[in-house]
This record gives sequence, C-alpha cells and structure tokens, in this order.
Amino acid sequence: MICLEKKEFKSESKRLLDLMINSIYTNKDIFLRELISNASDALDKLYYRSLTDKNVKVKKDDLAITLAFDTDKRTITITDTGCGMTKEELENNLGTIAKSGSLNFKENMNSDEKVNIIGQFGVGFYSAFMVSDKITVTSKSIDSEESYAWKSEGADGYTISKAKKESNGTEIVLHIKEDTDEEDYSKYLNEYELKSLVKKYSDYISFPIKMECTHHDLKNEEKHEYEDHKCLETLNSMMPIWKKNKKDVKEDDYDNFYMDKFNDFDKPLKVISSSVEGMCSYKSLLFIPSHAPYDYYTQDYEKGLSLYANGVLIMERCADLLPDYFSFVKGVVDSEDLSLNISRELLQESHSLKLIAKNIESKIRKELEEMLKNDREKYESFFKTFGVQLKYGVYNNYGADKDKLKDLLMFYSSKEGKLITLGEYIKKMKDGQEVIYYASGSSIAKIDSLPQVEQVKDKDYDILYLTDYVDQFAITAIQEYENKKFINVESEDLNLETEEEKETTKKVNEDNSDLLKTMKDELKEVSEVRFTSKLKNHPVCLTSKGDVSIEMQKVFDAMPNDMGIKAQMVLEVNEKHDIAKKLKDLYQNDKDEFIKYTKILYAEARMIAGLPIDNPTEISTLICEVIAK
Ligand code: ADP
Repeated sequence: MICLEKKEFKSESKRLLDLMINSIYTNKDIFLRELISNASDALDKLYYRSLTDKNVKVKKDDLAITLAFDTDKRTITITDTGCGMTKEELENNLGTIAKSGSLNFKENMNSDEKVNIIGQFGVGFYSAFMVSDKITVTSKSIDSEESYAWKSEGADGYTISKAKKESNGTEIVLHIKEDTDEEDYSKYLNEYELKSLVKKYSDYISFPIKMECTHHDLKNEEKHEYEDHKCLETLNSMMPIWKKNKKDVKEDDYDNFYMDKFNDFDKPLKVISSSVEGMCSYKSLLFIPSHAPYDYYTQDYEKGLSLYANGVLIMERCADLLPDYFSFVKGVVDSEDLSLNISRELLQESHSLKLIAKNIESKIRKELEEMLKNDREKYESFFKTFGVQLKYGVYNNYGADKDKLKDLLMFYSSKEGKLITLGEYIKKMKDGQEVIYYASGSSIAKIDSLPQVEQVKDKDYDILYLTDYVDQFAITAIQEYENKKFINVESEDLNLETEEEKETTKKVNEDNSDLLKTMKDELKEVSEVRFTSKLKNHPVCLTSKGDVSIEMQKVFDAMPNDMGIKAQMVLEVNEKHDIAKKLKDLYQNDKDEFIKYTKILYAEARMIAGLPIDNPTEISTLICEVIAK
C-alpha cells in the first residue's frame, strides 16, 4: 500500500465535524442506523444501475449488508456489496462533510424510477465519529478496477491509499473509542446490543443485514453441557407489516405486532391501517388499545406515533402526529415524502408532517364514528376507557375542536339507564321540550336522589347524568346541540312550574320577604334565600345563579391554586313542606330558634349538594339542641 499525503478536511468541514460529533446527534446509538442506511443506498444504486446498464449484472441474493465485531481489536465492521466508491468519490463524498453523493444521484435520476434513497444530507457517515476514534473505509466501485482505502482519525484529516479489495462494495471498519467515566463505548462490541440496534432502527431496510451469531446448543442433556456454534443470521425483518399487502396479513399478525411493539399484554380494541397517495404519501398502522396504559392519566405519559422515513425509524414518538384528544392511539407512520433535517431526528419544515397529522386525525375520528354506528358495544367499551380524553378535547383550546368531537360523546341517560349520544337525546325529546337537561354529581345514584332531579323527572323529561368532573366543562363548551341549550337542573330557574304555581310562589316570597332576608343575612355565602314550589318531598335544596354551577365550584375548590371562583348559591325552601310553616312560626315567636333552624337547613342543603360543611361541630350541636327538646 502506498500512502498518499494526508489531506485536511475542507475547512468548513472541520468545524462541522466537530459540531456533528458534539451536538447534532443527541443519541450515539444512531451511528449504526446511518451506516446501514448508506449501505442500503449503495445496494439500491447498484441495483438501479443493473436495470439501466447492460454491463452491470447483479444477482439479487448477492445484495446484502454484513455486520461483524471484534471485542479484542475493538472494531465493528459494516460491509456492503453495493456500488462502491471510486477514489474521487471517496475524496468528494467523505472528504467534504455535508456533500451528499446520494442527493446528486437522486437529482440526476429519472423520477419514475423506483429507488429508495435514504441519504440526502451528507452528514450521516460522520456520526460514526461519535463512537469511533479511527475509521477505515475500503471501497471498490463498479466503475473502477482499483480499490482504495480512506482513513481518518477525526477532525485532523484523512488519507486515501490504494487497497486490495476484489469485489465491488464498501467495507467500513470502526475502531471503537475507549470507555470513559461518562460513556460506555464497549457496549457496542456486543452481539445482543448490535442486534437490538438493528431491530430498533433498521428492521425494515429492504436488504438482509447479516451477522455471525453465537448459539448455545445443548450437547449433553444429563451433564448440562453446551456447545457454542456460529451461524450467519439475518437480523432484520425487511418487510414492515404496514407495507405488506393487506390480503396477506391476518388479524393475528396485526395484534401480535401491536403487542410486541407497544408492550401490551392485550390485543388492541381496533386496528386502523391506511395507505394514502397524494400530496404527501404515507402508510400508517394505528391501534386503539383495549385498556388505558398504566401511566396514561399521569404526566409521564407521552403521546405520539413512531415515524419512519422509508422504513428507517426517525422518531420513536412523534407527538405532532396526534392531537391531545387522541393521545391514546398507538402506531406507526411511514412516508417517503418527509423532509428531514440533517440529524434525521427532527423535521425541518413540518408542512408534510402537518398534512399527515391532519389526515390521521380525521381517519381516527371517522373510524370511531363508524364503530359507534356499527359496533355499539365496542364503542361503549372504548368510551368508558378513553371518553374522558374526548371530553377534555371538547373544552380545550377554548372549544376549538368541539364540533369535531361532540358526536362522539356519550352520557348516562336517566330514562334509558345507559349511555346515549347527544343526537339520541335530541331524537327522543318530548314534544314541547326546548332544552337538554343535565345534572351533575359524583355518582349516578347520588344524582338520582338530588331534589332538583325529581321535578324534571316528574315532567317525564330525560336527564343526562354527568359523573366525570370534566363533563360539565365539556357541556359548557358545547353550549348547545342542534339549537337546544343545555340546562343544569340545579340552576335556579328551570321554568317548569305552572302559571298558577308561579303566582303562589311569588306571593309567598313577597309576603315573607323579611323572614327570607333575615335568613340570607345569617348565611353570608348564599346570595338569596327563597321559597319554592319546585320541590316535592325534599325540604331544601341549593341552586346556582349565573355561569358557575355548584359542580364547577367543587372542581375549582379542588385545584391547588384557589382562584376564588364561586357559584352564586340560592337556598330554596319547599313552601309546601312542614318546615316552611315551622320557619314562619319561629320567625314570629322565637328568633334564636329561627336562626338555629336556618343554619341547620343550610347545612342540609350543602350536604345534599355534596358540598363540605365548614362548621360540623356547631351544626351537630345545634341538631342535638333541637331534637332534644
Ligand atoms: P448521506 O448518506 O446523507 O448522503 P453520508 O455522510 O452518510 O451522507 O454519506 C456521504 C456520501 O458518501 C453518500 O451520499 C454516498 O454517496 C457516499 N457513501 C457513503 N457510504 C457509502 C457506501 N457504503 N457505499 C457507497 N457510497 C457511500
């Protein structure tokens, strides 16, 4: 070998190399992905040449990538049987960073030709310097009789010398760095580690990636003796399941892929596979899990889909592909039309990504709508698991997405005794019913026993029972459905009384205005005390005026930073109940006792509404005093 003079990298390359090693890549593991992608490009180029140039002949079986490592010498060798590089190409492609031969090739190519070229930035190769202190590239081009070796120990420069390589292709030998306190480079000199890196990043490279692997064979069962033997194994599965013809994939295959890739013990509830051609072509394979991941409702959960560019993993969890309200969806997206930035880690301009995300959002939505229509049981099971997320989606972003999601919501119906959609509620509304009634509480049973619910039920109206604390926020965001407003049964004026009843109530309130004012003055938190005719058997209830309901106040109260948002509460007393008579009597004859009763009744009303009682000791003493008489 005649050594040629040592050449320096082109000046800007030096800085770039430094940048490359220290900052472009955040993850050292990807060096293998980059070198394998280059090898795959070289095999594609050779194959393409064989289609257009009669002098170039290839056997498909010979197109392969081989991986080897040597723990003693601390080397990893990546070999391909691709097009190889001439001396000039070695000089131009590896001597100048950010010079991509692949991009030139792609630009000069007839766009109809189907070749998958992964590389296009001309920096991937240098990522190998993150883990190596010396790299030797020996290559023989299909266009040259001679072969050359390119050697470099990093930013200093490189040498090119003649070499002896008989067959076309490229062999890259990485000399792996010594371990440091912070970095364990030796981990790469390990069969298991290399295998898993190939599986993770390069599983869908379309050429076989082979490695000599060690197998422990049982030699003697009784003596538990094993014998090691080596054999050449193909590490990658080559054809991703989402690229296979749908006819050739069984339901089980999808389920197994899901369980394997996303570490779930259960099959997915729904598989959504699509192949989109157009402005931005992509294939996607999405899954709706059958149960929420254990960390789903915690801050640790990260939404996102695995993003592949031409079968090469770019991002394990691309969050931009999913709106928050579908964050439970798992899956992969593979596109040839992505514009990647130099580190292949992020996307430079996200136009294509936005387009894909938009398509995926509407695809998931359509599939859910279909499921709701055609497989009710399955949808209900989905909704019980992830419905809360959809409801968040309705009120997040100031309700911007509510119209997309409102038809997917379900609430418990007092009449049907099961979950129904808003559309179904409207369809079954009684003649003359103008509004959608709802009631909130912590459980169906508790809501069912609310005093205010009784009156609406008596009129034979259906009531939606809201048991999730997000429910009422979602309803408030929707405002109305098919021109029907939502009305909380606990709001002060439901307008369900007859004219006659209204008249009597008005009169009772006017006649007793002093009594009611005394009660209100005693109970500082309520904005009004009044007699009502809307209660049947219950003596009292709390209702609210204005936008903030009692249920909302409970949510605000539970928040760590008290924003002081309070409902305007009205204490209503059943004017047909014996207690009304008693109050009037005490007001005339025993003011002290009257105040006691007022306090007790207010505490009762809070209790029924599920609100805490601030002075339980005082109240229980008062009750005892009253009942002991
Ligand atoms: P990129 O792959 O993004 O173009 P790289 O820095 O990884 O950039 O590689 C630079 C160029 O070197 C490639 O475009 C290609 O022309 C050439 N090259 C790299 N590896 C090989 C290989 N194994 N066989 C043939 N050419 C290669």
